[in-house]
Amino acid sequence: MQKIAVKKIAVFTSGGDSPGMNAALRAVVRTANFYQIECYGVREGYNGLINDDFAKMGPRSVRNIINQGGTILKSARSLEFKTKEGRQKAYENCVKHGIDALVCIGGDGTFSGAKIFNEEFGIKVIGVPGTIDNDIFGTDNTIGYDTALNTAMEAIDKIRDTATSHSRVFFVEVMGRDAGFIALNSGIASGALDILIPEKKDSLEELFATFRKSGERGKTSSIVVVAEGEQLGGIYDIARATKTEFPDYDIRVAILGHIQRGGSPSCADRVLASRLGFGAVVGLMEGQNCVMAGMRSNKLVYTPIEEAIRKHNEIDKELLAISEILAI
Ligand code: ATP
Repeated sequence: MQKIAVKKIAVFTSGGDSPGMNAALRAVVRTANFYQIECYGVREGYNGLINDDFAKMGPRSVRNIINQGGTILKSARSLEFKTKEGRQKAYENCVKHGIDALVCIGGDGTFSGAKIFNEEFGIKVIGVPGTIDNDIFGTDNTIGYDTALNTAMEAIDKIRDTATSHSRVFFVEVMGRDAGFIALNSGIASGALDILIPEKKDSLEELFATFRKSGERGKTSSIVVVAEGEQLGGIYDIARATKTEFPDYDIRVAILGHIQRGGSPSCADRVLASRLGFGAVVGLMEGQNCVMAGMRSNKLVYTPIEEAIRKHNEIDKELLAISEILAI
């Protein structure tokens, strides 16, 4: 495809932060610099567009950040951008700085905002999937997912040590309101007895049957990994119901919470972020608009933002089946 000119771009991080957003930012800024495109960083996501919080960035402004978690640009959930007036202000600031394209690093909410902005004002947008949930269609992995997964796995390993020592049952909650990728994969990797995810309708009876079977086979401690969005009614209720059914069990609940968002990005996330940040700038140069850069089967692909938002990556049913076979 013939390279066309994009003269000035702005990049921001938005929605929930994820490890590797900095690596993506670094890749965007340095790729832009390589191709002599002026690059502005916008602080606090859409709020920065509205509040005119732009700063010119060059290769040195992104030094020493590839290994840092969080996002140096900061992130925000902007209510004002959901209003027409807010987006109008954002547009005026883009015009003021002569911005002709936005690189939007975030999740599906961020992409919804970008799509509306593009439709209303014609400013080109390209998405880079940065979210720990891995729930975005058009990429095998999202930036931050691998790190969050490893953080969850390491935490569960530590919980297992104490569970074993005291013959306890632990219910461990991991992030994932709508998607069970972290729960399923960290659960398999840490040898969980059962894994409860939003995509699968479990019942307490099934869970109790699994406990019974594991007891018969001589297990004295167990870990059950629970995604935030599981369908059984909340981790504390599940723990209470289990205690009622098995009064002899010593049951504990652990919520991993925000530690899953933090920390230095894994190698896989740094490489993914570097490739997608590069891909976003090159995509804009090639005339891509209102698409998301993603990696599928190790290839850089562009998926219309509309499709990335509407569709969802499916949980691997085979993996689910394997987790059940290996747990007992
Ligand atoms: P994560 O998946 O990690 O939570 P996200 O990008 O989905 O990340 P959201 O808070 O859902 O996080 O979205 C980020 C921001 O995008 C919102 O705070 C809002 O400013 C903007 N946004 C989301 N949906 C819309 C919309 N329908 N119209 C305009 N702006 C939107």
